[in-house]
Amino acid sequence: MKPAPFAYHRPTSLAETLALLERYGGDGRILAGGQSLVPALNMRLATPAALIDINRVSGLDGISLQPKGLVIGAMARHDAVEHSSLVARHAPLIAQAMPHVGHRAIRIRGTVGGSVALADPAAELPACLLALDAVIRIASPRTEREMAAGDFFRGVYTTALAQGEIVTAVIVPPIRLGWRSRFVELARRHGDFALVGLAAHCRAEGDVIREARLAFCGVASTPVRALRAELALSGRLLSADVLSQAGRALDADLDPPEDVHGSPALRRHLARVLLAGPVAAFTSEVNP
Ligand SMILES: Cc1cc2nc3c(=O)[nH]c(=O)nc-3n(C[C@H](O)[C@H](O)[C@H](O)COP(=O)(O)OP(=O)(O)OC[C@H]3O[C@@H](n4cnc5c(N)ncnc54)[C@H](O)[C@@H]3O)c2cc1C
Repeated sequence: MKPAPFAYHRPTSLAETLALLERYGGDGRILAGGQSLVPALNMRLATPAALIDINRVSGLDGISLQPKGLVIGAMARHDAVEHSSLVARHAPLIAQAMPHVGHRAIRIRGTVGGSVALADPAAELPACLLALDAVIRIASPRTEREMAAGDFFRGVYTTALAQGEIVTAVIVPPIRLGWRSRFVELARRHGDFALVGLAAHCRAEGDVIREARLAFCGVASTPVRALRAELALSGRLLSADVLSQAGRALDADLDPPEDVHGSPALRRHLARVLLAGPVAAFTSEVNP
């Protein structure tokens, strides 16, 4: 299929981009990597009056360490994030998750800002941002604001972005001493969206998980923290019994969809299977 006609703009600055967004109101759409938007245009699921292509906007694709933490620009490609030594060092959870995002060709074009703004509930990056307590930086014509990832994702393909706003970066706060990360997922084939994914960020001492942040993707309408499972694990000596209590607690944390890829029961089962791996790894890393 071919897209419906649209005007095409290729701004070179953020100010120009924001002015164009304002000019078109709700009818202008940002084009980043195009990996989701272009198919949606071709199938006429999206019919914007104008595309605002931000691929030539300078200053949006950097990855840098700043006092607030690791700042990853909205136009940083998944592939650049995957291979960044700064990300490997300061946000290893994201580095581990990136190879699971589609195939390399998709990662070479797809962007951090696109993934965050799209808010696919099965996407890996939003779950990582939630686990890491990251912040989304948002610009509009008159102001800039920052919002916790936990407040940003509102529903299936729905975020807190208001009309005329654009994601400019995500900020991962500095990782505190003793915290470790693991990203794991199960998909039918490599490169598929996750049936279930787990971004785990925990602090362990010996065989005790002291604190845990467990964010799942693919099991609710947004990435979701498994707060009850976190509580069931925290401060307890790891044992098969504690793991199975945490697994049971997961049932109340998750609200998996029923779709062609799997039943809620299957996704709940997979989430429990995923939980065991990172938790055991965190403790055995300290006490090999
Ligand atoms: C075959 C295939 C498999 C895939 N598998 C996965 C997967 O396993 N996991 C995964 O997470 N993703 C997957 N993706 C999605 C892909 O990785 C991209 O992350 C995703 O498409 C969005 O990034 P993009 O840069 O391509 O955004 P685009 O397609 O350009 O835009 C997507 C949406 O976000 C908006 N947008 C883009 N950037 C911004 C911004 N800075 N501010 C505000 N709005 C913005 C656009 O207007 C549009 O509505 C897959 C895609 C394909 C085609």
